[in-house]
Order: sequence, then structure tokens, then C-alpha cells
Amino acid sequence: MKFPVEQFEGVQTPFYYYDKELLQQTLDVINREASRYAGFHVHYAVKANVDPTVLAMVNASGLGCDCVSGGEVKACLDAGFPASKIVFAGVGKADWEINLALDADIACFNVESAPELDVLNELAGAKGKVARVALRVNPNVDAHTHKYITTGLSENKFGIAMNMLDMIVHHAQLLPNISFEGLHFHIGSQILDMKPFEMLCHRVNQLSEELEAKGVRMKTINVGGGLGCDYVNPDEHPIPDFASYFKIFADHLALRRGQELHFELGRSVVCQCGALISRVLYVKEGNNKKFVILDAGMSDLIRPALYQAHHNIENITAAPDGPKEKYDVVGPICESSDTFGEDELLPVTRRGDLVALRSAGAYGQIMASNYNCRRIPASLVL
Ligand SMILES: *Cc1c(COP(=O)(O)O)cnc(C)c1O
Repeated sequence: MKFPVEQFEGVQTPFYYYDKELLQQTLDVINREASRYAGFHVHYAVKANVDPTVLAMVNASGLGCDCVSGGEVKACLDAGFPASKIVFAGVGKADWEINLALDADIACFNVESAPELDVLNELAGAKGKVARVALRVNPNVDAHTHKYITTGLSENKFGIAMNMLDMIVHHAQLLPNISFEGLHFHIGSQILDMKPFEMLCHRVNQLSEELEAKGVRMKTINVGGGLGCDYVNPDEHPIPDFASYFKIFADHLALRRGQELHFELGRSVVCQCGALISRVLYVKEGNNKKFVILDAGMSDLIRPALYQAHHNIENITAAPDGPKEKYDVVGPICESSDTFGEDELLPVTRRGDLVALRSAGAYGQIMASNYNCRRIPASLVL
């Protein structure tokens, strides 16, 4: 990623910069790699980033979307996504959210519990509609060997435990305003090791066989998202390894004839095309440390404070080959966790320099808040 610093002139900091060219290349690779396999359909998990230009580019590329709230369903409809490519997950869908999605005739509700199924049946019935449903299952993929898997364990708020699946599928088939389409999974996020995806495939095969043995046929399988991106070497890996990712599913998941396989990729689509651009307010010398104090803080990019996440920090206006110094890079907010990096080796940094926090395209701007009465950072898409 290159930074067109001349074009940052006069833009109020902090702001999110998105590189259209890199996003387009990423979308092209996703389409190229997924289209190698019959029946593969990719949705973009819009919770990662809803910048209007980003959404428009994703829509133009032909991806569908995956929503986790009524607001997201509305954002996708407003961005022009066809309802036939919208799926809607979430453990707590409010009635108005369900009604909004029913009115739009979205492709599929990813239902996470038995009571949700009953409410959906009732609301669809009141409109004289039939809601298409995939049941979200917790595949209980072993988390001990794969620490990044946090949502796929059997006992958590997401999805339906495997031992209850039978009963709930049966229940769904009896409801007049529900059409049971298949199963949905989502095992976690920032997964770089392909093994958990392979384990997921085996679990899907097993559940498919069990359901088939009971005469249940499925039109769709949805394996969610979770593919990670390289936060440490963004320039070496500007585009995640979609080829290996899709191949894992092609090799290990036994799709039935005519069955569709859906993916919901969020982070991997938009992570690397975005950076938070901030201006250095002060360089403060302590007894043993030097602090670079930015005008961006945890209200603009909360991932370091919330998940101890790493974002590469670059001074994009200082001469890169000059002398270097170690700094703690911090924000202006009244919380000690408002720190972006400790002992960062940067070119000698001065007030007024521009600093980029890299790989911030996913779960960056969208998680910004007004904490401390700060404004939400704007987008600059070039
Ligand atoms: C968050 C989420 C995704 C996307 O996850 P990424 O790790 O960003 O790919 C996909 N599906 C569901 C149901 C989600 O909640």
C-alpha cells in the first residue's frame, strides 16, 4: 500500500484512508478463486466496514452480503445489493429487524435458536410469507489447539448445540411459514491456520450424513467467515490466501449435487486496504521513554485497547532513511489502554508528522465511537 501523502494535505485528521486499487484487486482474487468451484457463493460480512464506496465496490464485484442487524440489512439494500444475495445472522434479532428483512424478501435468515424460529414463523405468517432459514450450528471445533476459535464451541451464546440440531430441524420442518434450507456455521475470526477450516468441513460432512439418514435434504451450506489477514507484514501479504482457503473447502467438504456452499468473509476482504491516518500532536520526553501523542485514539480504532490487537505504525511523512528512535505511540483519550504501540522504532518524529496505523480497513472505522465527545473519523477513498 502506497500513501498519496500530497492528497492528504488539508484533510482533517484523524481519517480512514481506503485504497480502491487494493480493494479491487482483493475482490478480483476472491472472484477468481471462488469461481473455480461450482456452487461457491461469497458474501461480504458488512459488519467489517460499511463505507458507502466500499459497499458499492463490493456490490459491483458481484458478492452478496452477510448482515448481523436490521441496520446492516438496510445499509445493504440502500447500497443496491439485491435482496436475493442478503443473508441475516445474529443471536438477538428484534421483531422490527425480522420484519424489515421479511419485507425485503432476503435470501436467508441464519437462525440461532428455537425461540427465534417460532417468532420468525409467526412474523412471516402475519405477512403471508415463508421465510427461508438456515440453522446456525456450533460445530464444537476444538479450541484448545486453535486459540483463535472463539465462537464455535458447543456452549456459548451463538448457534445451536449439535445434540439439539435434530429436534430443531424437525421443529422447523413442521412450521408452515418456515422453509428449512440448510445449515450455517461461523467458527471465529482472524484464522490464518487452515486446519480449523478443514475440521469444520469434516463436521459439516458428518452432520449432513446424519440429517440425510433421517431424510432431510439441504439446499445450502453456509460456512461463515473467519479468514485472517497479516497484521505484521501487510506489504508482503496485501491479499489474504484465498486460493488455499477455497481449496480447503473444495477438497474436504462433500457437497451434494446442486447444493450451494456459501461463505461470509469480512476481515479478509477489507482489512489491508484501509489505514487510520493521524497527525502527531506532540512528542513528549519522559524520564526513560519518549511518547508520540497522536490526534487519533481508541475512539477511532479500538482494536488495540479491546483485543490487544497489533497494527503496524508508520510515520509516512518523515524521511524513511533518517535516524530512528524508540517511542510509545499513544492517543489523547483519558484511558491508559489508549495506546497503539510500545517501544516502536520510528524515524525521528516531530509535531505535525502523519502517522498511518496499518491494516485498519476491517473493524476499524465501523467500531469508532463518540467517547470523550470526539467525532467519528471520516473516510478518504482514493
Ligand atoms: C463476523 C461474522 C462474519 C465475518 O467474520 P470475519 O472474521 O470478519 O471474516 C461472518 N459470519 C458471521 C455470522 C459473523 O458474525
